[in-house]
Amino acid sequence: MSPPRIVVIGAGFAGLYALRRLERRIPRGMADLVLIAPNDYMLYTPLLPQVASGLLTPQSLAVSLHRLLHRTRMVPGSAIGVDTEARAVIVKKISDEITYEPYDRLVLAPGSLTRVFDIPGLTEHGFGNKNLAEAVVLRDHVLAQLELANATRDPVEREERCRFVVVGGGYTGVETAASLRRLTEEAARRYPDLRPDINWHLVDIAPRLLPELGPRLGEESLELLRSMGIEVKLEVTVREATENKVTLTDGRVLPCRTLIWTAGTSPSPLMGSLGSATDRGRLIVGADLTVPGHSEIFAIGDAAAIPDLSKSEEGATCPPTAQYAERQGRVAAENVIASLLRRPMRDFLHRDMGLVVDLGGRDAVARLPGYDLAGLPAFAVTRAYHLWTLPSAPARARVGANWLIRALTGGEVARLGFAHGKPSTFVDIEAAHYLGPQAVRQESARLLDSVPV
Ligand SMILES: Cc1cc2nc3c(=O)[nH]c(=O)nc-3n(C[C@H](O)[C@H](O)[C@H](O)COP(=O)(O)OP(=O)(O)OC[C@H]3O[C@@H](n4cnc5c(N)ncnc54)[C@H](O)[C@@H]3O)c2cc1C
Repeated sequence: MSPPRIVVIGAGFAGLYALRRLERRIPRGMADLVLIAPNDYMLYTPLLPQVASGLLTPQSLAVSLHRLLHRTRMVPGSAIGVDTEARAVIVKKISDEITYEPYDRLVLAPGSLTRVFDIPGLTEHGFGNKNLAEAVVLRDHVLAQLELANATRDPVEREERCRFVVVGGGYTGVETAASLRRLTEEAARRYPDLRPDINWHLVDIAPRLLPELGPRLGEESLELLRSMGIEVKLEVTVREATENKVTLTDGRVLPCRTLIWTAGTSPSPLMGSLGSATDRGRLIVGADLTVPGHSEIFAIGDAAAIPDLSKSEEGATCPPTAQYAERQGRVAAENVIASLLRRPMRDFLHRDMGLVVDLGGRDAVARLPGYDLAGLPAFAVTRAYHLWTLPSAPARARVGANWLIRALTGGEVARLGFAHGKPSTFVDIEAAHYLGPQAVRQESARLLDSVPV
């Protein structure tokens, strides 16, 4: 009998930690481990705003999978559909070839995409900050605006290029606004005349910033952002965006050429291809992480709606954070093994350990169990936390070295040339063509007839 095939989709926090546990616990030759992922690295997303600001090089957050996984067969591509009847995943390889991977056990961990609302002009003119390409493009675009503002004699163009609007008061938006504000401040040393014209705005539809941190730290972060010169406007969002202006829902018109959209994420559309129940796009699973009616399929991370057993409210689900995804990965691996051995599976239970938010420079806020921290202690905890949770020693060394180099030599504000011509929008960067349940069955039938296993 051939060994069981365990297929994992996605190598982020959830998928990587599931595979590491599977490699450690399953003796060699007892199972075939397969990973379907578009990239051969795991992206440590919590530090992405520091790539956008240039504090970290992009490579330092791309943690090599080859270093961490030793007997997993990697299929470079994206899963575009799952045929639960044929037990096969349809894959679009990075070469554009369409193929399939059969499975005995499947772990779905494809994460999420930037959530786009139906706001006129948003997809054409908005910038995201959710992957390395977006972070690098964003940094180049911001630096290019200052160079162009400095070069023009037109005061209107200058005003537009010197204004930056960030939408989203969660940790991604706050960290992105704070770190890029510092970047423009640093870059403006070259253009002292521009300094008074540089304007940063942060808007959010919610009444508070960083609701995950509680009211006290939310208020503290708001004060910090304002002291950095960022104009924060709450209970407001974007009504329309064009190439050179953003109109807010309170009627205010901001002439600007940079709209950074970080207002939430939506689960990978792959979850819709199974034809199973979803909750706002997240695949609904039980506390043992299996899909109801499919004990061979597990779903974890941002794309799964997992009951939060640590909360007393009915229907509470786990938050979409790296902290949860990593732990769900380990439990999914244990349950995959238990299901192969026909042993009982365990439920996922984790109590939130808090959140750290880096506001650039030496500013940070941190909520730990029983403690709220701000200022230097929060900064130290934030940096130590990231060094501890980065998944490999070389990645820790690279990130630590980047921080040290910056502390000793100051920043480099050179543009890399990625945003020449029409910059890519987050919609271009995240584009993929997922199949609906019916198209999955047609494509799968065609592939099963024509492609050898
Ligand atoms: C800028 C930013 C800052 C953040 N800061 C924090 C923080 O400070 N603390 C915190 O806890 N969380 C933070 N998060 C959230 C955290 O990154 C996510 O909750 C976490 O990454 C979820 O893990 P995941 O494995 O579900 O998804 P991801 O880590 O996003 O991984 C998904 C993986 O699946 C791959 N993939 C996607 N689609 C497919 C497909 N169709 N086929 C195959 N592979 C696919 C992707 O390439 C990726 O490798 C932050 C997120 C962002 C964007």
